[in-house]
Amino acid sequence: MAFVITDNCIKDALCVDACPVDCIHPRMDEASFDGATQMYVDPSECIDCGACIPACTSDAIFALDDLPADKVQFIAANAAHFA
Ligand code: SF4
Ligand code: SF4
Repeated sequence: MAFVITDNCIKDALCVDACPVDCIHPRMDEASFDGATQMYVDPSECIDCGACIPACTSDAIFALDDLPADKVQFIAANAAHFA
């Protein structure tokens, strides 16, 4: 399982500082940041700690089990960013 960021994301990067394993990208210092429409969780690195959830003030991050039905496409979108 991994946590998933959705299109509610406003790219303020609050979650990046909260994540203990640095699996949320692109960081603001990465070249792809400006062109990205949102942040993404690397599903192969996420340890499901949940620390990003309270950090996000935009309700953009969900545990897989809590992902709304109309947001399931973001599972693939998050993984695709790291493909
Ligand atoms: S659940 Fe934990 S490891 Fe996964 S993205 Fe959020 S803060 Fe990072
Ligand atoms: S804290 Fe929420 S809104 Fe901000 S970058 Fe992370 S997922 Fe996006």
